[in-house]
Amino acid sequence: MTHNPDPSRPRGLRTRAVHAGHGLDPATGAHATPIYATSTFGYGSAERGARLFAGEEQGYFYSRLTNPTVRAFEEKVASLEGLPDALAFASGMGAVSAACLTLLKPGDETVFIAPLYGGTTGFLTEVAAKFGVTVHEAADETAAEALCGPRTRLIWVETPTNPALNIVDLARVSRMARACGALSVADNTFSSPYLTRPAEHGIDLVMHSATKYLGGHGDAIGGVLAGPADLLAEVRGVGLRHVGASLGPFEAYLFLRGLKTLPLRMDAHCAGAAELAAALDGHPALHALHYPGLSRHAGHEVARRQMRAFGGLLSLDLGSQAAAFTFLNSLTLFTQAVSLGDVESLSCHPGSTTHHLLGDEALRRQGVTPGLVRLSVGIEDPADLIDDVLGALKHVGASARTDRDLSRA
Ligand SMILES: *Cc1c(COP(=O)(O)O)cnc(C)c1O
Repeated sequence: MTHNPDPSRPRGLRTRAVHAGHGLDPATGAHATPIYATSTFGYGSAERGARLFAGEEQGYFYSRLTNPTVRAFEEKVASLEGLPDALAFASGMGAVSAACLTLLKPGDETVFIAPLYGGTTGFLTEVAAKFGVTVHEAADETAAEALCGPRTRLIWVETPTNPALNIVDLARVSRMARACGALSVADNTFSSPYLTRPAEHGIDLVMHSATKYLGGHGDAIGGVLAGPADLLAEVRGVGLRHVGASLGPFEAYLFLRGLKTLPLRMDAHCAGAAELAAALDGHPALHALHYPGLSRHAGHEVARRQMRAFGGLLSLDLGSQAAAFTFLNSLTLFTQAVSLGDVESLSCHPGSTTHHLLGDEALRRQGVTPGLVRLSVGIEDPADLIDDVLGALKHVGASARTDRDLSRA
């Protein structure tokens, strides 16, 4: 099942999404990648067992370390990211924790550009810090440059960010990492490799919550790191082997299946979000509309440079939590749920759900206002989604007028 790309014939991303990591099963000729539901693998002879454990021969022996279905998923992600190798995990947070626990040691420093996914910030500030790693939070690229020094080992960024959709300049991050001898890591969950391949901008390691766009169907939790083979071998030997957040073969199968349509799904997500943003721009009920495709968005120019399209997420500020709740409760096609990147449209109120543990100060810094709603645009007909959102905004208008009438009375 090994994926053996012919470097003399570079293939396009849609071809790689379908074919990379995929071949006829050597045992049976099965066309679809089989789910190798096995914990262990017989190695045939004591001599071969010894060679496998000594690393003198490559092969499968225990599924916590590697499994053929999981390996196929890793090969597909590596190919899509344009990186030599990838390593799968049971969740995005499994990937974050394995990378940090392997690559950081006491005395090291890390710099991250805020905001990151809440779990990643939590891991750095509550776990890595406990093991003697100094964690610096930077508000932007300029602040991050000032915090980098000789002890900086990792620079961790995410783009676009959650939920305000700020854009981080990946080329600039990779330059600052090289200047101080650190590794740069980009959480590419919100873009997917179809929109952004951080390695093309010099980023060393790419991380995904595969739960989101890579899987795309809201039916599996997983994570993955892509990067240089030597670095990932180290993470496999320490962070995966000793921490054990290993992806199961069934989830790997779902991700393999989902990834085949990643380019098609992303085109639909991005087109739907762009149409919705155009329909919403200037709507009187909105206090703000955050979408990197708007020319007035602060990160628009960088987004044009490093993204193929502007993604499937947008966030709206409706002015108050009451207006946000009225809006969310009036939507019919957008399921109220956390997560993102599913074929079904999803909606959430970050201030009271994903971000509710943050204090007022952090919420303000991250742009999580009381009226903020995040929409993950699915692949339904854009006209239906626009109709749903505009209809829900009518209820907001009505309730806002009622509030004003009451306060006047
Ligand atoms: C969801 C998410 C994670 C965490 O991934 P899990 O699969 O839920 O563990 C990390 N980063 C980003 C940007 C996410 O959206």
